[in-house]
Amino acid sequence: MTGLSDSFQRPINYLRISVTDRCNLRCIYCMPAEGVDLMSHNDILSYEEIFTVAKAAAELGINKVRLTGGEPLVRAGLPELVRLLAGIDTIDDISLTTNGTLLTHHAAELKEAGLRRVNISLDTLKPDRFQRITRSGNLEDTLQGIEATRTAGLNPVKINAVVMAGINDDEIPDFAARTLSDGWHVRFIEHMPVNGDESGVSRLVSVREMKHRLDPLGKMEPYKVDVGNGPARYFRLPDATGTIGFITPITEHFCYHCNRLRLTADGKLRPCLLSEDEIDLRESLRRGAPVAELKNLIEEAIARKPLGHKLDEGGKHRGRPFSQVGG
Ligand code: SAM
Ligand code: SF4
Repeated sequence: MTGLSDSFQRPINYLRISVTDRCNLRCIYCMPAEGVDLMSHNDILSYEEIFTVAKAAAELGINKVRLTGGEPLVRAGLPELVRLLAGIDTIDDISLTTNGTLLTHHAAELKEAGLRRVNISLDTLKPDRFQRITRSGNLEDTLQGIEATRTAGLNPVKINAVVMAGINDDEIPDFAARTLSDGWHVRFIEHMPVNGDESGVSRLVSVREMKHRLDPLGKMEPYKVDVGNGPARYFRLPDATGTIGFITPITEHFCYHCNRLRLTADGKLRPCLLSEDEIDLRESLRRGAPVAELKNLIEEAIARKPLGHKLDEGGKHRGRPFSQVGG
């Protein structure tokens, strides 16, 4: 293994793989009510094709993989893909980002297939509000999914909440209280004004404001986590078994430490979530190109990683919605 780094000397070891652009929810910050134009079945990489890309990437130095979507669990047979990826010796961490609604049916099988960890997106603890934010979902499905995941031993389960002013920001203390009562690991994410988002452009609650709202719960101490080295910074309330993390793509963006590449469901490598630059791997895969060609394309994608995004300068993202590129 050689180890990869981009032209800004950032080490690159993490591949996020979107396995589908389809979703069983329509979150207001991610998708329009009517959904988005869907890719056809033939456009989407097969599990074998995804495996081929992951193996080539692993040979170059990628050792962490996350499966995402759309909603990854709406694609049939996801444990089969996990099993394929788990068979790649040098990949030592396979994780999943999901809305959690289907986890009760799949958590145990995913664990058995080799999945290590799960992040579950949940933006409210109120049933009626859950319906409004997701435009269709049932809070109980996600809560049961969280419990099934913990029971299956896929720990630590992280709960990701996108905080939106006037929509769910009053629940910041309620989520934090779950780190005390239930040992949840909660991460608050700053809302990004991206294409597909219909929640309004002025929904940002800064991390500074989020922390201020948590003052009544006691003094948070910084906390170092062992598993996963993503962009969150972690804290702990006095006596809590769970942790509170903050992901701040806008007010304190973490591009300088970005270690990732993204593979879209239709086989494009994206050097950056928020840039439209894409390198097509599907054409090479379907032409039966040698692995060396795939590796060259992966290295090219890494070389094309930009230094950072411009959302903090008031830029609005206009490209493919997150549901298509993996959020
Ligand atoms: N369906 C899965 C889920 O919801 O976890 C995986 C795909 S989703 C696109 C991945 C992540 O992107 C979720 O945690 C979601 O909250 C986040 N996301 C989507 N739109 C966002 C936005 N406008 N601002 C911040 N995060 C966003
Ligand atoms: Fe679906 Fe996830 Fe987007 Fe919500 S955030 S619409 S669950 S892809």
